[in-house]
Amino acid sequence: MDFIDLKTQQSRIQEALNSNIQKVLNHGGYIMGPEIKQLETKLAAYTGTKHAISCASGTDALLMALMAYGVKPGDAIFTTPFTFIATAEVISLLGAMPVFVDIDPKTYNIDPAKLALAIKALKSNDPSIYPLPITPNPLPITPRGVIPVDLFGLTADYDAIESIAKEHGLFVIEDAAQSFGAKYKDRMACSFGNIGCTSFFPAKPLGCYGDGGMCFTNDDHLAEIMASIRVHGKGGHKYDNVRIGINGRLDTLQAAILLAKFEIFPEEVELRQTVAQRYTDLLTNNLSPITSDQRPALITPYLPRGARSAWAQYSLLARDEDHRTAILKKLQDNKIPSAIYYPKPLHMQDAFADLGYKKGDFPVSEDSASHIFSLPMHPYLTTQDQEKIVEILARS
Ligand SMILES: *Cc1c(COP(=O)(O)O)cnc(C)c1O
Repeated sequence: MDFIDLKTQQSRIQEALNSNIQKVLNHGGYIMGPEIKQLETKLAAYTGTKHAISCASGTDALLMALMAYGVKPGDAIFTTPFTFIATAEVISLLGAMPVFVDIDPKTYNIDPAKLALAIKALKSNDPSIYPLPITPNPLPITPRGVIPVDLFGLTADYDAIESIAKEHGLFVIEDAAQSFGAKYKDRMACSFGNIGCTSFFPAKPLGCYGDGGMCFTNDDHLAEIMASIRVHGKGGHKYDNVRIGINGRLDTLQAAILLAKFEIFPEEVELRQTVAQRYTDLLTNNLSPITSDQRPALITPYLPRGARSAWAQYSLLARDEDHRTAILKKLQDNKIPSAIYYPKPLHMQDAFADLGYKKGDFPVSEDSASHIFSLPMHPYLTTQDQEKIVEILARS
């Protein structure tokens, strides 16, 4: 059993893949070939955004978005500590300051009420309101933006986040690395906030065969700046440089691969719904009932009304850390792969030690990290395999 099965998908689209790859080999436009624009046009339409700017990775997408806003030392960007390092890494890379905000215990996404508190604390420089990072004096700190993460494929609470951001004049960059294909009410992931950033890392809902990413926006000006940043800050032509940029292009070959994969992607998103629902049904029917004096044996993912997750991960909460250790061992003994996203919140990582955060600052993230785990999840998971997994979980 695979944690993420990419082989079944490949066998379904083998012909389209071969033909798309061969086309690139024939025309030889390896850098910014015609497939780049084709892919951007298709994915912009799919997400309901005006502009799509492909790039070399999800990390570069976030970096380009922050660079488009001119983020610099002295700027503060609010984000969650319960995410992959890339979300906050790009903030630090530009010399700006990540300000962490704890998550909602049900969705694992940034908690809007705590975001409002963190903004207030930063603006009044009062860590008694909400934990703040150590400010490297004498720089004044300016709140600039928020990067909510659509963790495990579920969009963050943008109704609340967008209104808080507006009130405080902050930009919103949606980290949609895990949520391409997700939907909330009538809006698609990647269309929230000012810029949506996704990743085509192979294990993401829409993955290529290497690294890749994309920025989405409805803002003409931001789109133009990001397209320039992607190619060394180019101006009217290649050797006209109007700003400092990066080499952030998506390979034409990866775009050709993504075009083949995208053909069946909407169907795969539906299959993911079926697989996730089957997990939840099986788990609900097979686990011992909740007693009032203890946590339930396992907590299944929460899906807010009106939300469709991209199910990048199907994550469960065990009763506690020991329970999780026992479950993971049983799964391993039965050759069933599993993973922990994420075992250590970012404020506890050495890389962010300079921020001066301490254990206890973000209790929901810390608690989730201590007993969360993820099961195999992909569109082609069989009922039989899921039954086998749940049977093992029911005995743990
Ligand atoms: C994967 C991921 C990224 C980074 O994407 P890459 O394509 O690997 O650079 C950023 N944020 C989140 C939440 C991710 O899961």
